[in-house]
Order: sequence, then structure tokens, then C-alpha cells
Amino acid sequence: MNYQKDVSEFMILGEQKIASDLNLKNEQSKLYMNLIEEEFEETAKAFNEDDLVEVADGLADMVWVIMGMCNSVGIDFDNIWEEVRDSNMSKFVDGKSIKNEAGKIMKPETYFKPNIKKALGI
Ligand SMILES: [Mg+2]
Repeated sequence: MNYQKDVSEFMILGEQKIASDLNLKNEQSKLYMNLIEEEFEETAKAFNEDDLVEVADGLADMVWVIMGMCNSVGIDFDNIWEEVRDSNMSKFVDGKSIKNEAGKIMKPETYFKPNIKKALGI
């Protein structure tokens, strides 16, 4: 399953642009930022109303419009995700977190920050 590709197909059929270069500010990115906000608000409302079906629908809608945003600004989401995932997983040593005496999860020597610029190829 490739969420970004699914949304690309939808956008192409809907005559929306798939950015081939990184380009943050354009009319379509503004639209998608508004949609992200709308879908977040719908999901939060459903959560507050204890409506599991609408929360599930809202979460999928959020992923959908986030992928639309990536397509609008030229971000290859998988690249960013892999970088963030690797960074988060670097907090564990041999599959385990390291905590201090107070129970706080510490950043071990293996931890590294995500290099988003590298992931973007800039
Ligand atoms: Mg919705």
C-alpha cells in the first residue's frame, strides 16, 4: 500500500498538480493546509463525541490530505518517514529504552536527530 501514490492518482484525475520540485507556497498547498485543519477539527470533534467510526474516518481523511499536501509541495513522504523512523528507533539500544532513576527515557549515544534536509535532498 502506498498512500501517497493513491492520493496522486486521485489528484491527477481531479486535475490537481503533483509538484515535481520542492515548492512550499502555491495555491494548492494553501488549499491542502486548510483541508488538513478541517479534517483535524472533524476528527477532534468525533473524538470528543466518543464516535469511533467518525474518528477512524477522520484519521484516514487526515492522512489523505497530508499526502495531498506532500504532493502539492513536492515532498516524497517515504523519504521523510524513513528518516524520522530511524531517528526515533535510535532511542532504543538492543530494542530497549534507557531510563534514568526518575523513569525518564534518555537519549542514548546511538540517538541521532532526523536529517530532514538530507531526506528532502537539499
Ligand atoms: Mg472528513
